[in-house]
Amino acid sequence: MVKPNETVVQDMSPHEGNVRDDTISPHEHWVIVGHGMAAQRLLEELHDPLTHRKRQDVSITIISGEPVGGYNRIGLSDVLAGKRTLAELTPQQIHSQHLPNCQWLQGWVMAIDRTAQTVRLSDGGLLPYDRLILSTGSSALLPELPGINGQGIQAFRTAADTEGLMALPANASVIVVGGGLLGIEAAVGLAGRGVNVALVHRGAWLMNRQLDALSGDWLAEALTSRGIRVYLNSTVAEIARDEREDMQGVILQTGEQLDAAHAVFAMGVKPNVDLAQRAGVAVADGIEVDDQMITSDPAIYALGECVSHRGVQFGLVGPLYEQAAVLARVLVANRDHIACDARYEGTVVATHLKVSGVPVYSAGDIDPAQESLVWQDLPKRHYKRLFLKEGRLVGVVLYGDISDGGFYHDLIQQQVDIRAWREHLIFGAAHCTGNVERNNKPQAISQKPYSAAA
Ligand SMILES: Cc1cc2nc3c(=O)[nH]c(=O)nc-3n(C[C@H](O)[C@H](O)[C@H](O)COP(=O)(O)OP(=O)(O)OC[C@H]3O[C@@H](n4cnc5c(N)ncnc54)[C@H](O)[C@@H]3O)c2cc1C
Repeated sequence: MVKPNETVVQDMSPHEGNVRDDTISPHEHWVIVGHGMAAQRLLEELHDPLTHRKRQDVSITIISGEPVGGYNRIGLSDVLAGKRTLAELTPQQIHSQHLPNCQWLQGWVMAIDRTAQTVRLSDGGLLPYDRLILSTGSSALLPELPGINGQGIQAFRTAADTEGLMALPANASVIVVGGGLLGIEAAVGLAGRGVNVALVHRGAWLMNRQLDALSGDWLAEALTSRGIRVYLNSTVAEIARDEREDMQGVILQTGEQLDAAHAVFAMGVKPNVDLAQRAGVAVADGIEVDDQMITSDPAIYALGECVSHRGVQFGLVGPLYEQAAVLARVLVANRDHIACDARYEGTVVATHLKVSGVPVYSAGDIDPAQESLVWQDLPKRHYKRLFLKEGRLVGVVLYGDISDGGFYHDLIQQQVDIRAWREHLIFGAAHCTGNVERNNKPQAISQKPYSAAA
């Protein structure tokens, strides 16, 4: 979504002599729209191919809608929880020293002219491109509800949002709407600041896309013990406001009102596709890309949360890091008119909670209809559930001890045939030795470590 505000475009590059209009040159000029985590990773991936060979035939302009670009958005949860500062999330602009002819602009790209190969900036300026890279990310989804437009409502997506939440007085009452990863991290962060928090979630258990009912219930208990009131199976129907339009609380579908002067909506995101769509670039739920991150226009590439790849959109950084690695190779090869075999073929995503103090890990497909292996230590609140399909691990939920998360993730990603050592699998990496390679038969450690049934 392109914001309509007319931000003045500034040259943020520390290079002297990097003037915006001098980009018409024999070199190729690449324009990157949006400087979020995907664009930042792309710059890092481009660093070696463009600098080690001391190339001077590419110049890059990055346009950042947010005042500070390239910061570690994931770390916002830690900032809200008081574990880090915003300044610690901002990357050093190493690229400005090392990438050739790289300049940063602050402002918004308002339109793309694909015929002329230019982008129009929010100050009216035109910038030509040879290759355009869209990394416009996503925006927080705000539901259409009576009273939603007004004071007291905010999202948890940007550094500015986080500053807004941190500015709330410690005795404030806040409703967090959405019991996924983001909502839980917002709720825990605010509760840790002394804020009175209620968490409203429409699912039957928290993180219902990543956890099963038991682990989701345990998580709710853990949050309750931190003073967070958790409302499951609950939907917000309306924002209650007084005659002066001040927020009074939220009204649930049951009619119950939860009093609060603030609400944080963490109900998901929508990809920022308007810019591409208006330019006639093919868009499904996200900007459509092929396995080389090329859109329907061969001069335009896209990566990150704004894309739809094989019909899938991703909301976590793992996939977009892989996309960035592929795209860097593709861009350089296309520049040189040489063949490139780099392909992005999708990612098995893994989620873990960072700030709740509750170790939770989930990856892959956790359809409860599938065969599963379960192990639990009730007093310690340790739980593992592995989801199997046709002799392969397809999903995992870990609660309490998540140290084997990476091991299980690799098995899922590499589609390892686990039939020969199935009975040892639930006990984790320490009980399964040998090289875990695709279709290999790793040797299981001989003694059975526990008598607990898997
Ligand atoms: C609080 C929080 C915690 C998270 N925790 C995790 C986690 O634990 N693990 C995980 O994997 N993921 C996590 N995520 C998700 C992760 O941060 C995102 O997947 C990632 O940041 C997406 O990167 P992106 O570059 O695609 O998009 P973004 O980071 O959204 O960046 C896009 C940028 O483009 C700018 N832009 C858009 N349109 C224009 C335009 N027309 N002109 C100029 N600029 C434009 C936007 O302003 C934005 O700055 C978390 C997200 C949040 C908000």
